[in-house]
Amino acid sequence: MIDNFYSGLADKALKDNGISREDAQGVLTASGPDLMQIFAQANQVRDHFFGNKVSVCSIINIKSGGCEEDCAFCAQSGHHETDTPQYGIMSFDPIQEYGDKVKAWKSRMGLVSSGRGVDSPEEFDAILEYTRKMAKICSVDASLGIISQDKAMALKTSGLSIYHHNVETSKKYFPNIVSTHSYDERIETIRNVRKAGLKLCCGGIMGMGEALEDRVDFAFEIRKINPDSVPLNFLNPIAGTRLECVTPIQPLEALRAIAMFRLVNPSKDIKICGGRAVILRDMQSFVFFAGASGIMIGDYLTTKGRAVDDDLAMIQDLGFEIADNGC
Ligand code: SF4
Repeated sequence: MIDNFYSGLADKALKDNGISREDAQGVLTASGPDLMQIFAQANQVRDHFFGNKVSVCSIINIKSGGCEEDCAFCAQSGHHETDTPQYGIMSFDPIQEYGDKVKAWKSRMGLVSSGRGVDSPEEFDAILEYTRKMAKICSVDASLGIISQDKAMALKTSGLSIYHHNVETSKKYFPNIVSTHSYDERIETIRNVRKAGLKLCCGGIMGMGEALEDRVDFAFEIRKINPDSVPLNFLNPIAGTRLECVTPIQPLEALRAIAMFRLVNPSKDIKICGGRAVILRDMQSFVFFAGASGIMIGDYLTTKGRAVDDDLAMIQDLGFEIADNGC
């Protein structure tokens, strides 16, 4: 391997708990042998913290569509015309059925509901009950939008372990994506989750028209937020949404972004979620070499995922094992 500017990135990331902004920008523009060198560095950092363990998580959309918010990427926003199914909080049976599959996959289970937050006391009570029941089957997480500290504490008492709340993108780029709530409101929810003693899963989406500088800002803002896990999604533009005409990013661009996140956030569980199959195509297994430590398996909120058997075979073929997710 060529000895150059990039060959010391892993050492810098491990020594300083993350590379500098200047190095992060260099990662996003590297190509050819330099890029392969960067992937090797990111992989070295991933291996340092995670070895051959890979984390997997799965989600179920327990309430879909009809959301009053205007997130530009989202097929569930009431501001968009999409063919996403619309339904209120589902009954427990399909949740339990999916939970049984999730347990067999050794995955975590995330309950996700559309909307700014869960305002209806009846709906929130139902979610608490589902959490209590599901916690007996597998590790349960939730993504319910903006939430108060009291509600976060009630979820924790019911057996929830991780609350998911993305910042979506950089603080500077956020107003281009959402106008109905602010970045700071998202940070407020993150504080409430922390005060309630829940673990935090916080990341976002790339490929929404943001500049490379925004991706660097996003990675450094995540470093400051210091979540337990970092889900990275790549925009798969959905017809009828405000971002339907955005050109999807190329596989190598996505892999550069993953490597940059790993080198900026060395010890975090970085999971590749929505858009993996569509954006990375044949290069999906490369996400680990680029520094990812986990993937979401099963279907996404409004789009189909790859067959779970294919993902589990990919993990095995790479010589990895699924980490103990507490299931
Ligand atoms: S991402 Fe969440 S809050 Fe934003 S429009 Fe979609 S369902 Fe609503």
